[in-house]
Amino acid sequence: MHLRLILPLAVALAFVTACEQATLSVMQRAVATNMASDYLGDIEDGLHVVLCGAGSPLPDPNRSGPCTAVIAGSRLFIFDAGSGASRQIGALRIPQGRIDAIFLTHFHSDHIDGLGELLMQRWVNGTHTTPVPIHGPTGVSRVVAGFKEAYELDKIYRVAHHGEATVPPGGFSAVAVPFPAPPDGHGEVVYDEAGVKITAFAVDHAPIAPAVGYRIEYGGRSVVISGDTSKSSNLEAFAKDVDLLVHEALSARLVNVMTEAAREAGRDNLVKITTDILDYHATPVQAAESAQTAGARHLLYYHVVPPLLLGPMEGIFLDGTDEAFDGGITLGTDGTAIHLPANSDAIEIEELL
Ligand SMILES: [Zn+2]
Ligand SMILES: [Zn+2]
Repeated sequence: MHLRLILPLAVALAFVTACEQATLSVMQRAVATNMASDYLGDIEDGLHVVLCGAGSPLPDPNRSGPCTAVIAGSRLFIFDAGSGASRQIGALRIPQGRIDAIFLTHFHSDHIDGLGELLMQRWVNGTHTTPVPIHGPTGVSRVVAGFKEAYELDKIYRVAHHGEATVPPGGFSAVAVPFPAPPDGHGEVVYDEAGVKITAFAVDHAPIAPAVGYRIEYGGRSVVISGDTSKSSNLEAFAKDVDLLVHEALSARLVNVMTEAAREAGRDNLVKITTDILDYHATPVQAAESAQTAGARHLLYYHVVPPLLLGPMEGIFLDGTDEAFDGGITLGTDGTAIHLPANSDAIEIEELL
């Protein structure tokens, strides 16, 4: 090859090599930082809610399937695990290996789609020797047994490959902890350890039953997670004076636009589905009314339906909510965090993603 060609090639090669070295050293620093610390080490004592999925079954780039991470003191809990939950928990630097327990509100697919991935990450990251408890109303045993069986071959592969010390077989997957669906007016205490109390209560997701919401209390602070529900007076009673109400919402006005489009396209099955879903979810204004009735201090919307793909759709979604509720309102996306420091009145809002 002629010298005139060799020289530029050598310079280009040196440039590429230098770029690769720089990339590797940036990666090395980032990975070292991530491995040496996690989100739990960065926050103060209190009750913290982080949305690891603010969406619904419909794809929204800013909202994965329903998932709420709750950090109460030293304990880490996950409420529902929709599609993408585990990946968002990872992106948030919340250590999946340290999940103490999982709670399911009901067994619609969008609330359990991400469970397999989450259980796998908890197992391989945590060196656990016991499976993670999954609390849920009657029916949870069937769901857990199904996921366990589906991942059984993968368990065999990983134990054979990495060894029992690295991935203890006893820590694989989950154990179901069912509780009877509580009747209206009755709270079922499903967790009471390390200063954390979690109470399940019935919500109204008819014809789907059982369906529950949860009240979490720690350090003089409180949170209620609605799960899926239409406007529920039982929820309002259990959310009495709560610091934070995390409530689902479906904008009938926006969903009706989808129904009309489906009708025009001759998609009769979609017309049926988008019409059916109106009756077992709350509208944003109804959720705000519940927050007002309960005396909640802050309202966080999650399980947002439909996807809010254009900025101005957020305004339509929230239309009328300010008039219905005197407290603060946050429209959640993946990574929305609300901090309730222990034994204080503070409510701090942060976007982590
Ligand atoms: Zn549901
Ligand atoms: Zn749902």
